[in-house]
Amino acid sequence: MLKPAATLRAMDAAHHWHPFSDMTALNRTGARIIVSAKGVFLTDADGNDILDGMSGLWNVAVGYGREEIVDAVASQMRALPYYNTFFQCTHPSVAQYAEALTALAPAHISKVFFAGGGSEANDTAFRLARIFWDQRGKPQKKRFIARHNAYHGSTVLSASLGGMAAMHGQSGLPIEGISHIRQPYHFGEGEGFSPDDFGRLAAKALADEIARLGADTVAAFIAEPIQGAGGVIIPPDSYWPEVARICRENNVLLIADEVITGFGRTGHFWGVERFGVAPDIMTIAKAMTSGYVPCGGVLISDRVAKTLATAGEIFHGYTTSGHPAACAAGLATLEIFARERLVDRVADDVGPYLGALWAGLGDHPLVGEARMTGLIGALELVADGGRTRFPSELNAGTRCRDLSVAHGLVMRAVGDTMVIAPPLVISRAECDLLVARARHTLDALAAELT
Ligand code: PMP
Repeated sequence: MLKPAATLRAMDAAHHWHPFSDMTALNRTGARIIVSAKGVFLTDADGNDILDGMSGLWNVAVGYGREEIVDAVASQMRALPYYNTFFQCTHPSVAQYAEALTALAPAHISKVFFAGGGSEANDTAFRLARIFWDQRGKPQKKRFIARHNAYHGSTVLSASLGGMAAMHGQSGLPIEGISHIRQPYHFGEGEGFSPDDFGRLAAKALADEIARLGADTVAAFIAEPIQGAGGVIIPPDSYWPEVARICRENNVLLIADEVITGFGRTGHFWGVERFGVAPDIMTIAKAMTSGYVPCGGVLISDRVAKTLATAGEIFHGYTTSGHPAACAAGLATLEIFARERLVDRVADDVGPYLGALWAGLGDHPLVGEARMTGLIGALELVADGGRTRFPSELNAGTRCRDLSVAHGLVMRAVGDTMVIAPPLVISRAECDLLVARARHTLDALAAELT
């Protein structure tokens, strides 16, 4: 029997330290308790149905309540709840999942290393890239270039690769050897430039940084194809091909963090395919198991794998690498993707459908830009329909987020940028509802702010 909401809230307030939370502020109001979910809808302890416009944390791609994933995990756990993949061992689920996953990877990739989540995946990619250059006889190639306002995770290393000023400020990050360049954020930073000119300018920052550091000291550049937690920053089409060319010409590995953009989010299986580039390493997590069981991974190109194979034992791995329950959830997730043709659905059906409705929000006086590709999008909240932001002390984004939940829709606030990434299984009728709720939210925010 579920305890009463007030009791649960009190237990939570007394004992649970939440991620990314101001615990003093949180405990003044008490946490929202989500008790169940089905399809694209969450139910909270007060009985409200809330459309989950964020797929949990960008991960529940196939929606909630998918019995076949639950069954696959349960039967795996009955047969073998755990065994490690160290010491020359494997198990059926990890072997099958590794094959199924790499079959979906770009053609030049046929290996996957498993981790417990996205942060661990990025930590792994960092170590593998350094080992790669050691094996290539270039041990001085140790530096990493990443971007301001990138998110790569919350461990010391992945937060250092990330470019979140607030995270760096709190614990003396980034660690040495990592530098950050500008982001390809046209709405926020590209005024006066065409998107493509701005994309080339943002890419040139990479060439400039490599030149400043010396190409012979740079191991890799890491970036999300589309920045997610930074505010769904969809780079101009000119950006990624330029970045890939600069990496190639300078002998710098390209690492794509596909933790959000992988698994169909953009209407392509991989975000890099949306932009036509082929990275050396790709890090993955979230939707690989649709969030049902934690999992992460690093997809390693054949060129990199061949060199790593000369290193002897690589002293790296996690207790949860290739966890049987995660692999079973991953396999069941991929079966749903194939049977329901989810990537095509995003590309040809609900993606364009929601995209057109979402673009319609651009005419709202509080919206400076409404952008979306596939099923990932953002609204820029502004005071004047143009590019003038609200004063930060108004907390327009946070208020919009709270109003949105009150109107039955989870949107996330990144400053004054509202972001969405609904489950890939969302129906057209649910897209109508999502946008209607978003519009009511904006109207309510306008009534509060003006
Ligand atoms: N990379 C990206 C692009 C992410 O969005 C996230 C999580 N939001 C991570 C890495 C870190 O993943 P995890 O929280 O599973 O460690």
